[in-house]
Amino acid sequence: MARILITSALPYINGIKHLGNLAGSMLPADVWARFKRSQGHEVLYICATDEHGTPAELAAAAAGQDVRTYCDEQHQIQKAAGEAFGLSYDHFGRSSNPPNHRLTQHFAEALEANGLIEERVDRMIYSVDDARFLPDRYVEGTCPHCAYPKARGDQCDNCGRLLDPTDLINPYSSVSGSRNIEVRDTRHLYLLQTKIEPQIRAWVDGKTGWQPLAKSIAYKHLDEGLIDRGITRDLAWGIPVLKDGFPRPGMEDKVFYVWFDAPVEYIGATQEWAEKHGKTWRDWWRLDEGAEDVRYVQFMGKDNVAFHTVSFPATIIGSGEPWKTVDQLKAFNWLNWYGGKFSTSQKRGVFMDQALELLPADYWRWHLTAYGPEGSDAAFTWEQFQSTTNKDLADVLGNFVNRIVKFAESKFDGVVPDGGAPGPMEAKLAEDVAAGIAEATAQFEAMEFRKAALALRAAWVLGNEYLQEAAPWTAFKTDVERSAVGVRTGLNLVALFARLAAPVMPFSAEKIAASVGATDLSWPEACADVLDVLPRGQKVAAAEVLFRKIEDVRVAEWTERFGGAEA
Ligand SMILES: [Zn+2]
Repeated sequence: MARILITSALPYINGIKHLGNLAGSMLPADVWARFKRSQGHEVLYICATDEHGTPAELAAAAAGQDVRTYCDEQHQIQKAAGEAFGLSYDHFGRSSNPPNHRLTQHFAEALEANGLIEERVDRMIYSVDDARFLPDRYVEGTCPHCAYPKARGDQCDNCGRLLDPTDLINPYSSVSGSRNIEVRDTRHLYLLQTKIEPQIRAWVDGKTGWQPLAKSIAYKHLDEGLIDRGITRDLAWGIPVLKDGFPRPGMEDKVFYVWFDAPVEYIGATQEWAEKHGKTWRDWWRLDEGAEDVRYVQFMGKDNVAFHTVSFPATIIGSGEPWKTVDQLKAFNWLNWYGGKFSTSQKRGVFMDQALELLPADYWRWHLTAYGPEGSDAAFTWEQFQSTTNKDLADVLGNFVNRIVKFAESKFDGVVPDGGAPGPMEAKLAEDVAAGIAEATAQFEAMEFRKAALALRAAWVLGNEYLQEAAPWTAFKTDVERSAVGVRTGLNLVALFARLAAPVMPFSAEKIAASVGATDLSWPEACADVLDVLPRGQKVAAAEVLFRKIEDVRVAEWTERFGGAEA
């Protein structure tokens, strides 16, 4: 039994997440956590809301709430949505909680002790009417290159040129619209990434378990050269900057930059989990306190890879302390939505709460796993969602389960029948099924989720083909013993399919298993004797319909409601 630590990239606090966010980190992390737990491993799956930064402050202001209240509410909303989707995190923490404050301040101190922190003076835009410094993107004005009047301080959306806010003509605050702004000096802490670049490169060199995609992104950033990075901001909401346990002189009104504290919350949330459940956290994170045998796997979208392979490691490695670092990264591409991306800020696409109003979680979990943005970007369309639901779930899996259980109910008194002996057909099936389990196991082990789903579907197809050939309904008229073998084998396949489906479709797996009186949802060994494990005489009872087909009229309705086709 191995100890496995899993984290998925922290969802930002500004509103409920869309299906693209789900498909690109939280769902595969959950599927893999469930897979590893079902094999009997000790799994700790940690996630949390990322709550600091200017967007959180502005979203709170827009909602007419103070930022603490806003984050309290949004955290609960995201937590509830995740649980409704079956996300089985052991803890869903908050980057604004005390453990993350202490740890973030600790890392800054350790980095400073190692000579990796420097105070520098920046010149930044200050809005007198808003009484605050403005991050680049919250300054707008006329583009000096193309005269576009709404260029942002970091980039012009019209001509695409990168800008410095001081380049803008007639700049104004996008928070208030005020033009009463000026450039002021402000002092910030810088993390000297240039000094630790060789150590990060050596660390990346030594990582053999990373995906090629993750490794190439890390090298790209290292080859381009790291720059020293400001890790504090002029904001009120965040983690205070301390020196020897007191507000750092000259930085009383500053906090750590959200990008500095957010990944530390992986550790902070583990500490929250430990405090809540009376467990220990250091043996998951400190190599000198028991974490040597931990396997640490991170799940994230591809935009987050550089951050997890270079920026966060700079913090951990730079501390000079023996922290656990990532062993394997699994990165995902984009889920596209009718020619564009899903977008939280533009409210484009389908969001987690809305999805569950339409259909239960497992429909989405299957679709986003089997057809997700894994090797490349993937497009979500209602028609494809309809087609995979109707074919994979209703026709192949649901129909198989329903057909055999109902037949056992009508002809064999609703029990797993005794009698008869397996023949060549069952021997062949057992071999094929063992190969199918081996394939699904190998693909899940490799974190190849689409291929793993393909292997599951292939196993369901084997079941349908077997029933077609064994035809217990025909045999029943002439040879009840032969029919009993067919039914018994079919019912055992139902129990097996529940175990195989459990990581991806946990809710349906329980129902499927229950229909044949089974409760075992552990991952099966790839062996041939899984087809005769249900006790003979055990009660079976068909569930209500497992998977409903999606009718055309609903696709039309959803397209209308979510603006799919026209977008
Ligand atoms: Zn421009």
